[in-house]
Amino acid sequence: MSGLSFSDLFIRCSYCAKPISKFQRTIDHVIPVSKGGTEDVNNKVWSCRSCNQKKKDLLPREWLQVLEEEYSKTKHKNQLDKIKKQINSILKYAGK
Ligand SMILES: [Zn+2]
Repeated sequence: MSGLSFSDLFIRCSYCAKPISKFQRTIDHVIPVSKGGTEDVNNKVWSCRSCNQKKKDLLPREWLQVLEEEYSKTKHKNQLDKIKKQINSILKYAGK
């Protein structure tokens, strides 16, 4: 990745949906590499530092539980549904 493209400005965290600046963004392995995840592009999503630190090496299902708890305190249920769909499609792809 080099330069700053238009889409760079609008990258959002896949988990909390907050816009993330170039310097705060991290790539999260949805299925942690330590737990059998691959370097496949389908296993990678943008994540802000704080979500990435919270997720650590939780498995997607464990992480969804954490997110469900967090989202139950907010009104952003749509975002949670989106995350669930995304994670489920990744799990399907990975055959887990
Ligand atoms: Zn986040």
